[in-house]
Amino acid sequence: MNNIIKNLYFNKTRTSAGFIILVQSLPKQKSMKKQTVSFELITYDTLEELSQEEKSLMLKAIETRKNAYAPYSNFQVGAAVLLENGEVVIGNNQENASYPSGLCAERVAMFQAGARYPGVIIKSIAISAASKVYTVHRPAAPCGNCRQSILEYEAKQGTPIALLLMGEQGLIYKCHSVGDILPLAFDSSFLK
Ligand SMILES: [Zn+2]
Repeated sequence: MNNIIKNLYFNKTRTSAGFIILVQSLPKQKSMKKQTVSFELITYDTLEELSQEEKSLMLKAIETRKNAYAPYSNFQVGAAVLLENGEVVIGNNQENASYPSGLCAERVAMFQAGARYPGVIIKSIAISAASKVYTVHRPAAPCGNCRQSILEYEAKQGTPIALLLMGEQGLIYKCHSVGDILPLAFDSSFLK
């Protein structure tokens, strides 16, 4: 009997025909708790509301976005990573005719930062998104793979990596930590 079957609760009931049927009843859920996961999201109407450091970083993301290689999606993303030593490392999306072979702007920038400045704390990443076929009027958050990749660096350095997100128009989003937008994440603590 496997664990799933063992864990089920059955009541045996004998029918008039002599068959035994199994009636499943749910276990008492004494320890059930409902929990809500939330995080703080700060929004700004314009770049002018950001600190000078944040604004400068976002402008670098916008600048590098324009050099993205995105002939298939026409969706251009630029990322600028700010390090504790003041260096800024940029990246933009690099697409490929074999779609999965391409890479998002965030990972291009993060991996480059990891390669060029190993051990240097990453403070924040600004991400700017635009399209050649429509106006992006809201921030584009990192995809799941990029969240996981940025979180690896956050866990490695033990300090949060802030995110600044914006489209071509509209609000600017700020999150204190990539972990905020990847709750219940899988990390190295499971690998022992
Ligand atoms: Zn991505």
